[in-house]
Amino acid sequence: MSVAIAIDGPAGAGKSTIARLAAKELGFIYVDTGALYRTIGLAASRRGLSAEDKSQIITMLDEIKVELSFNDKGEQIVLLDNEDVSGLIRTPEISMMASAVSAIPEVRAFLLNLQRDMSHTNNVIMDGRDIGTVVLPDAKLKIFLSASPECRARRRYDELIEKGMDVKYEDVLNDVVARDYADSHRDISPLKPAEDAVMVDTSGEDLETSVNKLLSIMREYI
Ligand code: C5P
Repeated sequence: MSVAIAIDGPAGAGKSTIARLAAKELGFIYVDTGALYRTIGLAASRRGLSAEDKSQIITMLDEIKVELSFNDKGEQIVLLDNEDVSGLIRTPEISMMASAVSAIPEVRAFLLNLQRDMSHTNNVIMDGRDIGTVVLPDAKLKIFLSASPECRARRRYDELIEKGMDVKYEDVLNDVVARDYADSHRDISPLKPAEDAVMVDTSGEDLETSVNKLLSIMREYI
């Protein structure tokens, strides 16, 4: 039987960085489900669609192929119609599109089995917004990872600057707050902790401290 660990929480809580490092340490596969929503966002934006074009986005789902794969370093790659779009989905514009398409029930249904299938054949640490509540409700361990909006925006800002992007801290903070609101107020699969989730706050902590904290929780459960 494979083991699944779910990590949910708002944008910029450090889920992906922490989950990636912890998975490496435990020999698990790390699955970043946000990349799937981003890929749908990218596909929609390439077709010139906006968040309001719901019916066209739903029609689009029959015309696109989204797949997850792993490179030889064990890093996740996301493919849109056989093209590796892993780098292209990491822009602020695609973040907002991802959040918008993720509120469409048909989009969530389209991605559900793809996410569940990953956990059938592998030990996984899967991060997202609804992993513990919807995707893997039977996960061995559910963690809800959070941090203050300012702290999360600062981390996102540093990441984007490091990638050479021209962004302002205030804009990143506004995006974080807007995405938090949209993600936790949508009708379907809103961002909320599972009843049996372990709550972890990483505000003000450095990466090493957070990773060690999560690893020790994970080791208790698996
Ligand atoms: O995690 P990341 O910031 O890459 O996710 C992008 C967007 O995808 C989120 O703002 C959220 O709206 C959506 N998402 C989701 N459910 C998931 C993962 C991501 O709705 N499991």
